[in-house]
Amino acid sequence: MMNKIEHIGIAVHNLDQACDIYEKLLGVGSYKTEEVGSECVTTAFFKTGDNKIELLQATDEDSAIAKFLAKKGEGIHHIAFEVTDIYAEMKRLSDEGFQVLNEKPKKGADNKLVCFVHPKGTNGVLIELCQEIKLL
Ligand code: ZN
Repeated sequence: MMNKIEHIGIAVHNLDQACDIYEKLLGVGSYKTEEVGSECVTTAFFKTGDNKIELLQATDEDSAIAKFLAKKGEGIHHIAFEVTDIYAEMKRLSDEGFQVLNEKPKKGADNKLVCFVHPKGTNGVLIELCQEIKLL
């Protein structure tokens, strides 16, 4: 089940500058900055009520974010939905014909298991599924 929009990811060229802007916009500072080595990004998270904004800056020219920025410029990069069972959702979406981009969920930012769905099948919007990693 898709529970809710968990966050919206925004690709930025300069994370420090973007953090200043979003801090002014939202009236609150980022609560977490995290480098995600597997995705070659540094992310900063802001809370807006129940939802979050994730700013993403590339740490490598070959990363997906760097390519997105080169092609489309700054802007909304993905919408992330919180799911209860990421494996079940990946299977459901794949059975529905969506192109699920990861064979297995990956460890993403903010203590989440994540997986992406190709924007070609979703009217141009990259979709992220995320499930909180529960500490046992
Ligand atoms: Zn995200």
